[in-house]
Amino acid sequence: MSAATTRSRTQRTPRTPDRLCAEAIGLARAAAEEAAAPGVVGEHVEVVVEGDRVVTHLFECKELGYRGWRWAVTVARASRAKVVTLDETVLLPGPDALLAPEWVPWSERLRPGDMGPGDLLPTDAEDLRLEPGYSGEDEPPPNSVLSEDMAERVEAEDAEVTAGSPADLTVTPARGSLASIADELGLRRARVLSRYGLHTAADRWEESYGPKTAMAQAAPAPCVSCGFLVPIGGSLGQAFGVCANEFGPADGRVVSLSYGCGGHSEAAVMPKPPRPAPPVLDETRVDVLPLRPAPDSGSVLPVGAGEDLGHS
Ligand code: SF4
Repeated sequence: MSAATTRSRTQRTPRTPDRLCAEAIGLARAAAEEAAAPGVVGEHVEVVVEGDRVVTHLFECKELGYRGWRWAVTVARASRAKVVTLDETVLLPGPDALLAPEWVPWSERLRPGDMGPGDLLPTDAEDLRLEPGYSGEDEPPPNSVLSEDMAERVEAEDAEVTAGSPADLTVTPARGSLASIADELGLRRARVLSRYGLHTAADRWEESYGPKTAMAQAAPAPCVSCGFLVPIGGSLGQAFGVCANEFGPADGRVVSLSYGCGGHSEAAVMPKPPRPAPPVLDETRVDVLPLRPAPDSGSVLPVGAGEDLGHS
């Protein structure tokens, strides 16, 4: 609705209510009580002018669960008529009414971690995070040298790049084969991450395991120099890797190369435990060990006491 239309409507709406319509409170109350349950129509609250000879009477709603709601009964009168007639009766929220939260579509309500086993999460056909993996737009024409060369290589490697739709191919290709290169480029998948999808993923990961986190700020060294960092491929591999330190805070997570934690492999190498000295065997002397107490003093008799040990 344009501002001009609003203004013209406002101008047409009379400021003072039609006297007969404003006085038809009894008619309005009867209509409200007919629509509502018995005893839930409360005090008359106010009269709202809707137009020429059209007013709405508002009554309190006393029904539990409808705090602040009001019964709105609109009455009208024809020009030069003396009889006021009922227009409509409806329950409307007042300014301090208790209202349900605004409805949000499920796709906007979904939060990370909401998916459970067996759940299916449909992806929008126009999802900005994805783009076609293979459009065929830059495919070389059939008579070009490039396409012949490509066909020969495919035949030689017995690759599966031409069998059916790319999305139907599920077998993992051998490393280094043409099919694996096609896989890397996204040719075997119907859709791949778009630039937008890459950026949003990178932002998300940086937020959780990036250089600005408290853990990284207090870390002795960044992940890039940590032995527990597993490199990842693709363009994201230039900025991220996977942590494989089971005692670290990011085990199994994608971490920024600038992230870090106290579990860094080189930060604090444990000192080796001291090695005990090897035992010394002295075979040149006899150690006297007590076996039983001496009969008179209660002390123990030494081994070999009173025996000839054969020493001259
Ligand atoms: S152990 Fe710590 S420093 Fe090493 S990769 Fe994992 S998070 Fe990074």
